Amino acid sequence: MKLRFLGGAGTVTGSRYLLSDEKHRVLIDCGMYQGVRTLRRRNWAPFPVDPATVEAVVLTHAHIDHSGYLPALVKNGFKGKIYCTKATHELCKVLLPDAGYLQEEDAKYAHRKKFSRHENPEPLFTEKDARESLKHFESRHFHEAFEPVPGFEVKFTPAGHILGSACVHVTHKGSARTVVFSGDVGRQNDLIMRPPEPLHHADVLVCESTYGDRTHGESDPETELADVITRTAGRGGIVLVPAFAVGRAQMLLYVVHKLMGEGRIPRLPVYLNSPMAIKATEIFCRHHKEHRLNAAQCELIDDKTQFVRTVEESIELDAARYPCIIVSASGMASGGRVLHHLKTLLPNPRNSVVFAGFQAPGTRGDALVKGADSVKIHGEYWPVKAEIHNLDSMSAHGDYQEILEWLSQGELQPRQVYITHGEPVASDTMRKHIHEKFGWPADVPDLFEEVTL
Ligand SMILES: [Zn+2]
Repeated sequence: MKLRFLGGAGTVTGSRYLLSDEKHRVLIDCGMYQGVRTLRRRNWAPFPVDPATVEAVVLTHAHIDHSGYLPALVKNGFKGKIYCTKATHELCKVLLPDAGYLQEEDAKYAHRKKFSRHENPEPLFTEKDARESLKHFESRHFHEAFEPVPGFEVKFTPAGHILGSACVHVTHKGSARTVVFSGDVGRQNDLIMRPPEPLHHADVLVCESTYGDRTHGESDPETELADVITRTAGRGGIVLVPAFAVGRAQMLLYVVHKLMGEGRIPRLPVYLNSPMAIKATEIFCRHHKEHRLNAAQCELIDDKTQFVRTVEESIELDAARYPCIIVSASGMASGGRVLHHLKTLLPNPRNSVVFAGFQAPGTRGDALVKGADSVKIHGEYWPVKAEIHNLDSMSAHGDYQEILEWLSQGELQPRQVYITHGEPVASDTMRKHIHEKFGWPADVPDLFEEVTL
């Protein structure tokens, strides 16, 4: 069995791993690149192998950096099935068409502003392409073994990162070798997700390293958030929280309502302004057995949050003159409705912007948490006068200590570990931590490197 790293090497986005033997090819994750332009440009390169020769795709979870290239893969000739957990399937039904819509909008915008080198800039894929790719989906239960292609047996175990997220275990029957892809790994003590299930067997482990060189620290995210909200409300400002539509948006809403219930912050109107996050919240509540919140707690989110569905309502919200809390996507401020709010709210020192997770290099979120005094949005520069916070401790990714703790919970004894899904320094530091703690051989693969397992 061979493993080729087609993405997620040297960066946190574009996760794509190809497993093959003499006869068959299966792709694990099919993500889009996000962040700096040199990375995004990779989305436009021809797929490194002919998509028609890939027989199946298996997804770890729904986030776009793991699933977002699927519509392009199908458009370019992929004919097989796409396997994932039930909740991942539900979330992809929302996320992928939205990604297609955004691609179309970007292409139209580039055309209008004439900043594309092409006469007629084309979207990478359209909403229609995304809907086409959804026809290839098939869901499987956690722990249920299945064979996406002959000779490769696959199983999902909970990864605790977002709803439906899984570690993917692949056993190659011919060589009797098992390789486990961690996918994105959740926290040991998350407020809404249960911890990742320990791994008990892997000959080869492919492990993420988003926080490979950092810890989330001892700070208590609830107290930090309560302080920012109270302070901002005190000066009559608005608290804007750019959040990933799937995962952190639901957690933030839960925390905000909990803080209000406990009297730790003033009672303010709470708006969720992201049609995608609204749908994701509905899916989250429907699958309440898969996370820590019970039906009543989900209902609390539902009852106390004002869902902003239309563009008109969204524009009205921008003109709000009273303290309130707005949760909007995207989490790294790379697109979506949050951009309009940023344009209105950033130039006023009364307001606060609170980021709640990893900000990929090159994104506006990254620039803002690093203290930029202005950011470019829709072709114009906007001064940053609002208070900016990064509540890293609210991240949906375990830090390196949590990942080491998780790896020590099972009876793992891999003969090789490959560290992926991290910036170069983070991945290399994770490699050292794993080698030092467990003595396992660990390596950081290069993009397009192929190894025999
Ligand atoms: Zn993720």
